[in-house]
Amino acid sequence: MAEGDMHRVRVTATPRRSCPALFLDRDGTLVDDPGYMSDPDQIVVLPGALPALHRFRSAGFALVLVTNQSGIGRGFFGWDDYDKVAARLRQHLAEQELDFDAECACGHAPDTGATCGWRKPSPGMLEEAARRLDLDLSASVMVGDKASDVWAADAAGVDRAVHVLTGAGSRERVDHSDWQLSVSLDMIDDLSALLP
Ligand SMILES: [Mg+2]
Ligand SMILES: [Zn+2]
Repeated sequence: MAEGDMHRVRVTATPRRSCPALFLDRDGTLVDDPGYMSDPDQIVVLPGALPALHRFRSAGFALVLVTNQSGIGRGFFGWDDYDKVAARLRQHLAEQELDFDAECACGHAPDTGATCGWRKPSPGMLEEAARRLDLDLSASVMVGDKASDVWAADAAGVDRAVHVLTGAGSRERVDHSDWQLSVSLDMIDDLSALLP
């Protein structure tokens, strides 16, 4: 598979000059993580997630999804499955009058993803969205359930990284004293506690 086939970016908004963004991990942060989700019927939006998106949108933040999807590189499912899940998630958002300004996905498995630049903990997805939407990374926030989300936030130079306990969060947070970050880190239970 060609390198370009392993990355997806979908931009729906027009660039807004130096806009801050809320970068969101998907699985385990915004939605329940059943592991390698490939079926739209598996989507369970976590409680309090959509009100948090509303708070950030009202505060002038762009909403950007940044998701590692190694199930594609591992051959567990394809981009057509990913697209169906993504479309259903957008429906859930649309029911609450929300939409992502951009969605980025890296399909690389960890071996090839270590050098692709996009797979978190690399900052490539945040940087790509920032380039497309003219975002101000230094005023942005990144939230996720894994250390790799926090490290991607650190590498991208955002203002604040936020770690949640949903998904893999409680398991990952055990080691948080070893994370070695320069970015400021907030630790919260879930998106219901996330404030701009
Ligand atoms: Mg996650
Ligand atoms: Zn990649």
